[in-house]
Amino acid sequence: MKEIIRTCCVCKKKQDKKNMIRITLVNDEVYLDNLKQKTGKGCYVCNDNSCKTALISKKILNRVYKLNISQEIYNKLFEELNIAEGNNSKN
Ligand SMILES: [Zn+2]
Repeated sequence: MKEIIRTCCVCKKKQDKKNMIRITLVNDEVYLDNLKQKTGKGCYVCNDNSCKTALISKKILNRVYKLNISQEIYNKLFEELNIAEGNNSKN
């Protein structure tokens, strides 16, 4: 299968997009695009804690999308990012 390479918007590392999380902008709101199917302006972030945390704490998406994204939206996104990690969480 062909690899599709994307750049992480936090650390600028390039890697196969299937190992990355897609975030998308629709109507000036950002969403975690779990299925990688939403339309809208997408950006990618590594599926690792340091990039996910920096994405939120440094409000990287404000720069990516040139918008002033509210703290509530970041909070919601942060929760979704942690849920998405899910697999290795203990029940
Ligand atoms: Zn990264």
